[in-house]
Amino acid sequence: MAKIGINLATGSIQKEELIVGIDLGTTNSLVAFINPDKDPQVINDMGRGVLVPSVVHFGLAGDITVGNEAKEYLITDPQNTVFSVKRLLGRSYHDIENYKDFFSYKVIDDDTESLVKIKVGDKFYTPIELSSLILKELKARAEHALKTPVNRAVITVPAYFNDSQRQATRDAGKLAGLDVLRIVNEPTAASLAYGIGLNPDETKTIAVYDLGGGTFDVSILQIQNGIFEVLSTNGNTFLGGDDFDRAIVDYWIEKNQLIKAEVLADNKLAQKLRLKAEESKKAFAHQSMVNDKIGDVWCTITREAFEELILPKVEETITCCKNALKDAGLNISQIDEVIMVGGSTRTALVKKKVSEFFGRKVHDELNPDEVVALGAAIQADILAGNRRDILLLDVTPLSLGIETMGGLMDVIIPRNSKVPTKAGRQYTTSIDGQVNMKIAVYQGERDLIKENRKLAEFELKGIPAMPAGFPKVDINFLLNADGILKIQAVELRSGVKQEVEVIPTYGITDDQVEQMLMDSITHAKDDVSQRMVIEARVEGEQMVSTVEKFLHKNADFLSEEEIAQTKAYVTALKEVLAGSEKDQIHMAIDTLNEYTRPFAERLMDVAISHAMKGKSIE
Ligand code: ADP
Ligand code: MG
Repeated sequence: MAKIGINLATGSIQKEELIVGIDLGTTNSLVAFINPDKDPQVINDMGRGVLVPSVVHFGLAGDITVGNEAKEYLITDPQNTVFSVKRLLGRSYHDIENYKDFFSYKVIDDDTESLVKIKVGDKFYTPIELSSLILKELKARAEHALKTPVNRAVITVPAYFNDSQRQATRDAGKLAGLDVLRIVNEPTAASLAYGIGLNPDETKTIAVYDLGGGTFDVSILQIQNGIFEVLSTNGNTFLGGDDFDRAIVDYWIEKNQLIKAEVLADNKLAQKLRLKAEESKKAFAHQSMVNDKIGDVWCTITREAFEELILPKVEETITCCKNALKDAGLNISQIDEVIMVGGSTRTALVKKKVSEFFGRKVHDELNPDEVVALGAAIQADILAGNRRDILLLDVTPLSLGIETMGGLMDVIIPRNSKVPTKAGRQYTTSIDGQVNMKIAVYQGERDLIKENRKLAEFELKGIPAMPAGFPKVDINFLLNADGILKIQAVELRSGVKQEVEVIPTYGITDDQVEQMLMDSITHAKDDVSQRMVIEARVEGEQMVSTVEKFLHKNADFLSEEEIAQTKAYVTALKEVLAGSEKDQIHMAIDTLNEYTRPFAERLMDVAISHAMKGKSIE
């Protein structure tokens, strides 16, 4: 087990290469580094501000803008302006169905479990690609400000992010040309920024309260031996500073005796009021009243009135804190420190209520919207080996994972994970009646398994015959302190089980590990692009198979013309599946999907009317 740093220019091992820390936020993103004085510092390139709004605009001429400039297009060109993409990372359409109206851009409904896509103009983007555009911008700003190439980063994610959301974040980094050394939980980073958890001898239980632009979460962490364990998380992914702004706008609408629907229909006015509301909210830090006018609308509000407006929202966050404590099995007196994170914790009432609840002074010495990035930079510095005072625990030098559809590597234990560690994921079959499942274990950073190193292969036998997608196969990896990897596969419905053990470091030299890391960096972008084509193909093939099955079974419910048209779309999809144009594949899937969706609905109606007939008395 070793930690390896590589100088990209020379290919040699290097200790002092700069690694940045990135907070990829829902509302704002930013990047930080450790300055020559060894202090974490946020990057403010050309005085454009530290916070880069997480907004991407696509111009007609193919030009892409990110940040403040893109934010302006939210009013003038909402269809081509993507915001809050973090909400979509690693999610399927099913995950976000309930709040699809939230997005002003087009989120593709392909009615499957596969990851969502966004359509802008005639192009399809995955949230990974969109996030990579934000990361690219941050990389460019860091390079410009620091006058040095930036190729390696630590990126933060919310503690509640699942595996697929973390993997998507990694992929976004890769696509932006960044070697993502580690994905760190936001509360962990915030804690590091305050120096909590840096001393391996310290044992502490802390609460991290994070109120951002549109999301709220609270995490209870246990810190022991330099390891951060998330005991519980709670929150509301639709509660944040935006709600405070909206509450102020509603208040002005009422005070001016306007009709809300009319104001909101006037995009420009609504946006101006929202901006004024945000400005007023911030002004309450040093004044007790705002008095202004936009057109004919009086924008007057006192701090007292503001606090009254937002009180229910703030109280809701306190309820979440209570629940988080309960889930962690702790009471308030067991919390040693409370850390405030997120721009919205600058609001005095928020601070007051949180410190009242926890019965202590909260940490607010650092800028709450910078603290996560600062902590990520510290984590990066630790990984770079620049902090001799901190003992770096043993880490896995290469990722460990299994082969999935299309020959892709699905990472289960990412490289640089602390050892011992365990991780797992659930899989299913792709063929009806499949009774055996091949499990091939690989080591390496490339997206295609054929470029990685095979460690083991075994078969889970005796899965009872079920339709494709029904079996639930849990695959768990357990890497112990001696470097032995135990792989366990269990089919949950039947209890069928199989286990193997390997030693990943056996038969591989440090030089080979280094070479594998080098190759993964040189091929990162091609790899992710290839992966995306393969994933599109797998999705397309599943679509073809589903539709063909449907046609076979339900031809009676369709007209001849409908059958012919469906077949034509299937043929068109098959044609592009033979190629490697991701956009064309997505387009063909979308067309076929749009055309056939009403059939399924019709079938449902028929089924219902049959059922009704069965019940009627004649
Ligand atoms: P996220 O983590 O969701 O990307 P941030 O932590 O950057 O977001 O928080 C953004 C929110 O913080 C916005 O709603 C913004 O209005 C709010 N905010 C920023 N500064 C202040 C301030 N001084 N007072 C109150 N709210 C603020
Ligand atoms: Mg944040």
